[in-house]
Amino acid sequence: MSNESLASLLKEERRFAPPAALAAEANVTAEAYEQARADRLGFWATQARRLSWETEPTQVLDWSDPPFAKWFADGRLNVAYNCVDRHVENGHGDRVALHFEGEPGDTRSLTYADLQREVSKAAHALTELGVQAGDRVAIYLPMIPEAVVSMLACARIGAPHSVVFGGFSADALATRIHDADARVVITADGGYRRGKPSPLKPAVDEALTRPGTENVRSVLVVRRTGQEDLAWTEGRDVWWHDLVDRQPEQHTPQAFDAEHPLFILYTSGTTGKPKGILHTTGGYLTQTSYTHHAVFDLKPESDVFWCTADVGWVTGHSYIVYGPLSNGATEVLYEGTPDTPHQGRWWEIVQKYGVTILYTAPTAIRAAMKWGDDIPAKFDLSSLRVLGSVGEPINPEAWVWYRKHIGADATPVVDTWWQTETGSIMISPLPGVTEAKPGSAQVPLPGIAATVVDDEGNEVPDGAGGYLVLTEPWPSMLRTIWGDDQRYRDTYWSRFAGRYFAGDGAKKDEDGDIWLLGRVDDVMLVSGHNISTTEVESALVSHPKVAEAAVVGAKDPQTTQAICAFVILRGGQEQGADEAGLVEELRAHVAKQLGPIAKPKRILPVSELPKTRSGKIMRRLLRDVAENRALGDVTTLTDASVMDLIQAKLPAAPSED
Ligand code: ATP
Ligand code: MG
Repeated sequence: MSNESLASLLKEERRFAPPAALAAEANVTAEAYEQARADRLGFWATQARRLSWETEPTQVLDWSDPPFAKWFADGRLNVAYNCVDRHVENGHGDRVALHFEGEPGDTRSLTYADLQREVSKAAHALTELGVQAGDRVAIYLPMIPEAVVSMLACARIGAPHSVVFGGFSADALATRIHDADARVVITADGGYRRGKPSPLKPAVDEALTRPGTENVRSVLVVRRTGQEDLAWTEGRDVWWHDLVDRQPEQHTPQAFDAEHPLFILYTSGTTGKPKGILHTTGGYLTQTSYTHHAVFDLKPESDVFWCTADVGWVTGHSYIVYGPLSNGATEVLYEGTPDTPHQGRWWEIVQKYGVTILYTAPTAIRAAMKWGDDIPAKFDLSSLRVLGSVGEPINPEAWVWYRKHIGADATPVVDTWWQTETGSIMISPLPGVTEAKPGSAQVPLPGIAATVVDDEGNEVPDGAGGYLVLTEPWPSMLRTIWGDDQRYRDTYWSRFAGRYFAGDGAKKDEDGDIWLLGRVDDVMLVSGHNISTTEVESALVSHPKVAEAAVVGAKDPQTTQAICAFVILRGGQEQGADEAGLVEELRAHVAKQLGPIAKPKRILPVSELPKTRSGKIMRRLLRDVAENRALGDVTTLTDASVMDLIQAKLPAAPSED
């Protein structure tokens, strides 16, 4: 990359101080940064005491064989005990752990005492199916309480789980079962999605016909949708209500080593073949618990936390299951989509349960912007006191919309950067400490060391851009790629010696705050300048008519790459009428915001963008379209028909300069 690498083009001047009341009562203050700076490992040793250990660790980090870390290696604990039993023992058995809201409107609330009984029974059931510590269990469920119960039951008996998102196909499921060599699959007949039952069990049946899945002995099936004519393999398939319900309600948790594997989770596959990321026990739980406490300022007695992610993604693992439950939180678990049966469903749920902390993704925020401001305005959202974002860079305009229309123009927004690999939040403002800048994830959390480096690995000065790296090991770091230590070394630790390469571009502003600029693979080279897709997208989204934008660099004979933008217009904007006029207006707008170099050569209004099932824009497919190539791997795409619609639009003549 040239010196102008990922040049900082966009200027965002808005600032938002933390609310005084929140700051005065904040769980974590600026002192935490000082403590961690003075003694980083001591800081994490202190955070580990948030947990209940059967054997307290005396060691903190063992980095004698990098990049293979051990944290708290001589400590022993049980994760399920930490997430459930100890809260009951501490007198909180009657506190609601989960408010479940089914898509059809059915509800169920589980207290911590209920959760303890359910997890204990499920643990006994898995044992009866022959699952032993170390055996892998695949979980392929809708967003129902049994998903959480299953994960905790696995953790309780030391069987690493591999949760596969319920929207994935039989093929994707088979590959993941094979790669992890799972012995049991937990599934449901189906779940509710967009107002209809959507079957799951048939995909399991199909997956288990594929080579490499022969070691699956049992399929445990939750009845959710009650579909009739369900195929059934005697001797292999067993109903949850037949097996789990008759088990004893008490189960003695056994402690495991801090480095005992907790789960394998495949990355969302935005850039290519998913990697089986391995997380272990003590360090992972320490950091998910601490970050949930610090970043969301969780007060377990009064807050109602809602993370809208699916449990099939790392966000669901860390901030539906392990972080919140280890902290004794009350949370919402919602099965369905945000627009079923109407586009205000989420805001209705916030109102109904009095949600105080909401954690969601930019894709959802941009969808809400597109549907219109009047929809959230119909609901009482006054309970909200912290808003979070994760998964992609959040455009400043979407950030400000979120704060204004969901957060009554007063609620702090925390933009949290992290990955499946990091296990927990790494870079984020703290809601009671940080003066927030829309669009920036800002600073590494206390105890985390991150910076931005150039091609040679030298730290860039403030005001410059390059690659995001993590310079010290952290407790919830991945331990390896399942079954492939070499790929682990190559992917993350070989680009810059001794440092973790995240694969994301970033810049540091004049204050040293970090701005994420999108994936390094997505950076565009235009007439000798590196331009970040994120900045051009943010410039487009800052135009009042644009709700969402995806930008790619397409091969171009004159400029190496030409900027090609796909935009979705905001609610109420007509698309067909004067498309050429609008395109010109948007091109001029970007040129004004960022300079002529960043002016897109082509802009195509579209009705949908290709997204992964976790809601991230898949730019590599748009690049294929823009360069008239056959599409690459589309298996992690939500809806492949979106690509047909976009391809059909493309022959439109590029506008001339
Ligand atoms: P794959 O690694 O298989 O391509 P993926 O990277 O999309 O998939 P995840 O681990 O779910 O899988 O996502 C992590 C990535 O999401 C980060 O590397 C980053 O690109 C993006 N990301 C997450 N949070 C933020 C954020 N707050 N700001 C900017 N980017 C973010
Ligand atoms: Mg990734």
